[in-house]
Parts: sequence; structure tokens; C-alpha cells
Amino acid sequence: MKQKITELQPRLTEHFMKLTEAGKLSHAYLFAGPAGTGKSELALFVAQTVFCTDKQAGMPCGRCSECRRIADHSFPDVVEVAPDGASIKVDQIRFLKAEFSKSGVEGTKKIFIISDAEKMTASAANSLLKFLEEPSGDVCAFLLTENANLILPTIISRCQEFELQALGFDELSEKLQQAGISKDKASLLLGLTDSLEIAIELSKDDEFAAMTADVWEWFKLIMTNDLRAFVNVTTHLKQYFSDRSRQDMLLDLIVLLVRDVMLLKFEEHGRTSFAMHHDELRAFSEKISTQRACHATELVLDSRKLQAINVSFQNILETLTLKLVSCYHE
Ligand SMILES: [Zn+2]
Repeated sequence: MKQKITELQPRLTEHFMKLTEAGKLSHAYLFAGPAGTGKSELALFVAQTVFCTDKQAGMPCGRCSECRRIADHSFPDVVEVAPDGASIKVDQIRFLKAEFSKSGVEGTKKIFIISDAEKMTASAANSLLKFLEEPSGDVCAFLLTENANLILPTIISRCQEFELQALGFDELSEKLQQAGISKDKASLLLGLTDSLEIAIELSKDDEFAAMTADVWEWFKLIMTNDLRAFVNVTTHLKQYFSDRSRQDMLLDLIVLLVRDVMLLKFEEHGRTSFAMHHDELRAFSEKISTQRACHATELVLDSRKLQAINVSFQNILETLTLKLVSCYHE
């Protein structure tokens, strides 16, 4: 499931809808921001606002032939360039310029989108610069980058720059709750990912729900100094060892639990991930020292290092169980 760009970047989509309506799009834009902030989706959205044949109040319909071909990267007047190997080479920019010396296939306007623009070679960047200085015809360029510092200042000065930011914890939590996920569950999901799509997928994943419940049962045994926690690794947790991504998830959940205990030591009530078990975690955190709470997080991080060098995952978890029991209780 893919999150809509209008939800991910509501202000910018609105801004560009207005610009297109007013016919005030500039010749070149730079979208800078971390992965997952919707840079490429935003550029394609703007292209749709330009070419859509059935806009409603400035909003592209997403269904007409133009909208669909733009979304499928097959619309002839929207040309996309991405690194060919490690870099964007001068030939790719020359190709782009040749494309734009022709007039639009379907209309008069043309849009080009350069992904990972910081990967242009020096000659590609210089070639692009000339093009930006003397745009031929009605052209709008989008340069996308995760790191604007690596782009030539002369190029940046030709572009209007926008920084795309990821949504914060509170905004993400709000959106998950709007999708019907409880506030507590949203806190847990956002402890694992800052991607709304992944969080929503996980919320529907039955195996994830079962794993979360099993990890909690295991941790309860540890909190009560009950060595059945050791056996529990084989009887309950082992079913999740089969693939690496589930192992990672299991360790991530354990990291969140020991981290919650530590956060509660520091009275950080609002940021716990296992918020549904807040009271039990808090009661436990009050019984142990801050030093032990911190040491437990180190133990879990050590487990991750062992996993990285391919030690048997069962060994890792059994050892971790014993170490956590002794860290918390001896
Ligand atoms: Zn449309």
C-alpha cells in the first residue's frame, strides 16, 4: 500500500497545484530531503497537475490516460533520468537536451526529472547548467537529491529549492489513528519504522501481532526473574527464527522493551513503544537501578552484533535471556 503524496506532503502538493493553476511554474526546482519523503512522487504529481485532462479544483484525477502514463513513467513529455551505475553521465544529459530540443509530443510543455542529482558527473552538471541557463521552450525541470550539499552551487542558484521533511512522530501517530489503528499500537509500530506504509502493513500482519505477544510473554518472565524464559525461546520464539527479516523484527521488539524500561527510569512516559503494557513496565523499572536498565540495552545491541556475524540465532537469544535475567536481578 502506497501512501498518497497529498497526505505525505500536503502543503507542497497544495502549493504546486496553485502554481500550475496560475501558470506560474518556474523552469527549475530542486527537491531535497531524505528517502521516503516523496521527492519523486511530488515531481510526478506536479507533472500530473500539468498534463491531467480531468482536473478537479486543481487536483489531478489520477485516472485519465495522461495521469496513468505519468505514474507508469511512460508519458513521452515527462522524461526521467537516474544514475546509470554510480553516476549520471554527460551522455544522459545530452540525451535529455536532445529530447527537449523537440517540442512536446502531446502538448507544448515538457518536464524532466533528475533523480539523485548529486550523482551528476562534473561534465554532466556543466552540460545541465547551460540548459538551465537557456531553457529551450516551455520546460520545467525537477532535480531530486538526498544531499543538496553535493550539488554545484551554480546549479542550485538556477533552481527554486524545497526541503522535503518527513512527518514527525505525532503527525504519523495521528495518521495511523485515522487509519483505524489504536494509539498504543501506533506507538509500537512507530518504534519500528517511520514509514507510514510499512506501519500500516505491519498493523495487518497477523504473524507480527503474534510475535509481539510472544515477545511480551517472554519479557514478562524475564522481569519476574523466571528462568522459564530460557525454555520459552525454544517453545515460543523459535518459530520466528526462520528468516532474517523476522529475526531482525524480533530483536527490534526486544530493543524497544529494554529501551522502554530505560525511558521509564528517566520518566519519559510519552515515548514508550509498548504503551499497552506501560503500567507493568513502569512498575518493573522502579525496581531496578538506572545502571542495570542501561546495561540491558547494551546486551541487546551486542546480540545484534553477533547476529551480523551469523552466530546461531537460537544461541544468541538463549544467551541474551540468561544475561538479561542476571542483569536485571542479580
Ligand atoms: Zn488525470
